[in-house]
Amino acid sequence: MKYALAVDIGATNTRVGIGNSDGELLQIESFKTWDFQDPLKYVEHIARVANGILKSFNVEVVGMGVGSPGPLDIKKGEIINAPNMPFKKLELVKLLKEFTGLRVAFANDAVTAVVGERYWGEGSKHENIVYVTISTGIGGGVYVDGSLLLGKDGNAHEIGHLVVDSRERLTCGCGKKGHWEAYSSGSGIPRFARFLAEVEREKIEGSVLKDRKDLDAPLIFEAYRKGDPLALLVISEVRRLNAYGFAAIVNYYDPEIITVGGSVALNNVDILLNNIRGEVEKYAINRVPDIKPTKLGQNIGIAGALALGLGLEPKIPLR
Ligand SMILES: [Zn+2]
Repeated sequence: MKYALAVDIGATNTRVGIGNSDGELLQIESFKTWDFQDPLKYVEHIARVANGILKSFNVEVVGMGVGSPGPLDIKKGEIINAPNMPFKKLELVKLLKEFTGLRVAFANDAVTAVVGERYWGEGSKHENIVYVTISTGIGGGVYVDGSLLLGKDGNAHEIGHLVVDSRERLTCGCGKKGHWEAYSSGSGIPRFARFLAEVEREKIEGSVLKDRKDLDAPLIFEAYRKGDPLALLVISEVRRLNAYGFAAIVNYYDPEIITVGGSVALNNVDILLNNIRGEVEKYAINRVPDIKPTKLGQNIGIAGALALGLGLEPKIPLR
């Protein structure tokens, strides 16, 4: 049995864990990413938690796998200009190696997640897999013919920044307009709702949401289930834009399966994923595969980081 450390950096939480070569995660510790505005203190804390876990398990580990929100410079091992993170630039791999003495394998969070899908999930059955996360942002990871797609800097499928709105109604966290993530992600949906509440006043008569200052995605989905007119309007638009996004994925990568994760998708499978195939078929030229929630659930990112830490993915070696 081999062991590795796994780090799943999220815009909200950072999770540090240890797992084995059966894909079992044996312990996971979590802390708030935004508790650390200083990048050095942040990496120090990851290393402190990792070293604590190592001490309590007292096993040899192969290395440490790390998934982080992008964009990244994968060759330098750096986070550069990530829209949802407290710090804009971070020399992550260099610092982690320094603080832990371990070899580190590093990738974009959604790429890391699709590595999890490949080694511990649907990958046993499929060579062509796309994983899409719909959470604070939207991201993707892609295997074509069993090969992980990376691109020159490791940012090959920033699918959240696909333009889905030619009217450019909203500006994305990255600063550009009309991007999928600006409308359909956990951070985008409430902003989209506020925008529609402003411009579609006559359509949202009677909405209990329209004057709320504390709008967030869970509140909007809850209101949707109760038939609130603003929630119905925004979610029907979100579903249409999601169909554009999924159709682009089907047309570009021709996957055998699309698995979806991230809290926004996993908490609202009935609304966002059930029956989405029919809508995607309106825009896709390729045969539309199953689009379904990942069986790895919220652990897909850290499961992928475990696979990277074990050195399983040849395109992202430990170094
Ligand atoms: Zn963007």
